[in-house]
Formats: sequence, C-alpha cells, structure tokens
Amino acid sequence: MNTLKNYIGGEWQASTTDQLQDVINPATGKAIASVPISARNDVEKAIEIADEAFDGWRRTPVTKRIQYLFHFKNLLEEHIEELAEIITNECGKTIKESVGEIRRGIENVENACGMPTLMQGINNEDIATGVDEHMIRQPLGVVTAITPFNFPAMIPLWFLPYAIAAGNCFILKPSEKVPMSAVKIFELLDQTGLPSGVVQLVNGDKSAVDLLLEHPAVRAVSFVGSTPVARKIYSKAAEHGKRVQAQGGAKNMVIVLPDADMNMTTQIVGDSAFGCAGQRCLANSLAITVGDARKPFTEAISKKAASLKVGYGLEKETEMGAVISPQTRERVESFVETGKKEGANVLVDGRGKTVPSFEDGYWSFPTIMDDIAPDSSIANTEIFGPLFGLMHVDTVDDAIELINSQAFGNMACLFTSSGAAARQFRYEAKAGNIGINIGVAAPMAYYPFSGWKESFFGDLHAQGNHAVEFYTQTKVVVERWIRDWDRKF
Ligand code: NAD
Repeated sequence: MNTLKNYIGGEWQASTTDQLQDVINPATGKAIASVPISARNDVEKAIEIADEAFDGWRRTPVTKRIQYLFHFKNLLEEHIEELAEIITNECGKTIKESVGEIRRGIENVENACGMPTLMQGINNEDIATGVDEHMIRQPLGVVTAITPFNFPAMIPLWFLPYAIAAGNCFILKPSEKVPMSAVKIFELLDQTGLPSGVVQLVNGDKSAVDLLLEHPAVRAVSFVGSTPVARKIYSKAAEHGKRVQAQGGAKNMVIVLPDADMNMTTQIVGDSAFGCAGQRCLANSLAITVGDARKPFTEAISKKAASLKVGYGLEKETEMGAVISPQTRERVESFVETGKKEGANVLVDGRGKTVPSFEDGYWSFPTIMDDIAPDSSIANTEIFGPLFGLMHVDTVDDAIELINSQAFGNMACLFTSSGAAARQFRYEAKAGNIGINIGVAAPMAYYPFSGWKESFFGDLHAQGNHAVEFYTQTKVVVERWIRDWDRKF
C-alpha cells in the first residue's frame, strides 16, 4: 500500500516517523493508503526551509508570483476529474460534490491572481508641506493552515493561494483522515515550478499542529475544524504571539414560512441537509417551520429524505455518499436515541441500513426527527451527519429568537416570498452567513466566509479582502522631501 510522503523544500520526502495510519475509503471500509504521523524533526524542517525561502519569495515581484497561480489553476482544471475521484474515495462524498468543491477551490486561486491590485496600499501627498504618507502591505513570513476532513481540496485552497500570492511561504497540515487530495494538489503545485520552500505539505496529527503553534518562525495560523479544537488553536496560537483565524463547527437553522415555494424549499433544504451526508459546516441541520408551513414542509422533506439514493460516490445514480467513519455513524445513531429520550419523534429512520455490495462501508441513511425541543442536546449539539430535525413555532419573531439563542453562528437561512420578512431576518439573525431562499450560503471567493459566535475565533475570516489583510502586515511610511519651491506654500 502506498505510504504518503511530505512535500518539503520542493521535494517529496518520506517522514522520519514510524507511526503510520490507514487512510480508509468510507464506502468500502478498506485502506487505500497509509499516512505518516510526522515527527518533530519533519515539522521543524518544513518550518526552517519555509523560513529560508521567505526572503527570496517576498522579493519576487507580485506579478511574477501570480504566474505560478495561473499555471496552478490550469493544472487543477486539467486534473479535476482525477482529483475529484481521490476526494470521493477518501472522503465518501459523491463525485458531483467532489467536482463542486474543487470548483469552489479554483475560484480562490482565480481571486488570488488579483493580488497586484488586492494588496495595494493607500497614500496621501502633502500631509504637511513636502511631506507624504504611505501605507504599504508586506507579507508576514511563514504561515500555516490546519484543515478538516470534509473538504479536502477546497479548504486548503481557501488559504494557500492568497498566502503565497501575497509573498508568504506556506505549510499545510491536512486532516490525517483525507491526506490524498492534498498530496495530489501538491503534485500539481510541484509542476508549476514554484521555487523550493514556498509551499510545504506536512502530514500528521495534533502533535504536528502543536509544533506549528509553538514555533517562533510561524507568524500566522489558519484553522478550520470543530469548535473545541478551534478554541484551542485560537488561544494557543495567540499565546505564542501569532495572528490566528480559527473557523469552528456549526448547527445551522433554516426558517420555513407558510408563503415559501414549498417545492423549491424542500428541494434546496433537502440538498443542504443531506448533501455530503450532512458533513458540511453549512448544512441545514434544523428547520423551524412557522404556522401553516408545518404540515406541507414536514411531509415533503420526509418524503425527500426517504427517497434519496445512498451509495458509493463514484456511482452516477448515488445522491448521498458514506459518512467518514464508523464513529460518525454511531454518533448519529446515538443522537436518535438521545433525541427520543428528549421527546422528539423519528419520522424517517436511517439507522441500521446498508448498501448492497458495500456492506463494509460506513452508511448512515437520511434521518428526520420531529418536535425537537429548543433546549434539548439534539437541538444544540453539532452532529455532523445526515440527521435533520424539525421545530415548529407560530411567528417569525419566535423563529429568529430560536436562531439567536444558538451558541453557533455559522449560517442561518430563511425561505419566504415576503420581502419584509426577508429584510427583518437579514437584519436580526445572529449568524455570519445568511441564506434567503438559499440552503448553502457559501460565500464566493471574493467575500469573507463570515462565521460568528462559537463558529469562529478571530477577526479576519478566510477568503476575500479578509484573506489579503490576514496574510499581510501594514507598514506606514511618513517622508519629507522638501525643496525651496515647496516652502512658498
Ligand atoms: P477536527 O477539529 O477534528 O480536525 C481538524 C484539524 O485539526 C485536523 O487537521 C486535525 O488533525 C487537527 N486536530 C484535531 N484535534 C486537534 C487537537 N486537539 N489539537 C490540534 N489539532 C487538532 O475537525 P474534523 O472532524 O476534521 O472536521 C469537521 C469539523 O470541521 C466540523 O465541526 C465542521 O463544522 C468543521 N468545519 C467548519 C468549517 C467552517 O468554515 N466553519 C468548514 C468545514 C468544517
């Protein structure tokens, strides 16, 4: 079986560790590769080499730096099918979802190609006679990103293109559950001819992360993953004096009003709840119906959930793939039991089912639970699987209040045909990404991915102008060049 390597200093290098972990295809339950849990010296070497490469890279004109990204974008386009297949095989999602996530990643590469204008500064002439002031943006140095299992290609691309276009040297520590997509991405980066040391891939687990958080040469840390780990990364990176952006978990609610187009709503909310088997930080996981929306929406979403074709993501007819691990399947099943004890009813039960010919896969079929109590654990815990809950209230105000009482604030959605309700919702909902008649309000690359509350720790989010600010530090220059002529004014 293929043992994956690290990419350090422009070369593929075997880790010095003897600790290896299987990478499992969740649809078959079989190992498809072996990933090293890199040792201290691997991580330190990656940091040192990135640090050495920084001076040459920051002096490389930005117009030249982005040429590597144009090349990288073309390589991603050429290899999109191959990369999508790798994602599906290590992550379990459908091939269509895998292609979709690469497209969203490519969008960030394209956006970062605008760095010559994105990182421009500001200036004033004559703040005093013959005196000018400028604010310029300079790169930080060595920066790192630690990424989760559920978008193995897209999430590294939320960070890498901006970081290097701005002149930083970059280290990726991908999820050890899905390292193969990152390896493919780095094979493509290698083909662009990027100078040695500009990008590094270090496989590993939390011990590699701890070293990155502690090392003085690492200037900034980007993290995406669960809330408990995001909170730890935020405080530990800050303790070591680093700039940090840490995106955490979610529990996204969607309000369905009686005036919503029920067919469209069911289609979109169903795709949001069960796409990527519910393992998406922008998955709708709880619906709040208002008034008369209760009956038609409950019936329609239950029908949709029960009809979804679950299976191996590479098979064309599959609508929902496997979950990442047996632990995820067990977590979903245990939450069904917890929910029942807390007074909820099971309308569609996805437990105990399997996919013919893939009996060893990690299957968790769509599940719908009704009458979820607002203060129950099932209403307030991120489950991260295909379990969708229903709550019912009488007014839009009650529904918005439920959203605002949530600890998480990644996304909130509303389905309606009322402009007034939409405006009230947009204005009052306490979440950073808002969908109106949209089920997955994923910001385009040129907007920040704006999680709030327990879904985000930091100031500047991934993507958009936030990424440019995050990966640059400002320098203000005040200069006097006075001639006799100027003294006349
Ligand atoms: P995770 O928190 O278990 O792991 C994320 C990364 O952190 C991995 O690279 C892992 O190796 C590392 N890690 C794990 N434990 C660590 C520790 N104690 N110290 C240091 N590093 C550690 O997350 P996951 O299960 O891979 O991903 C799913 C989670 O990610 C969900 O909670 C989901 O909501 C969240 N997510 C959030 C967003 C967002 O934009 N807010 C996007 C995608 C996923």
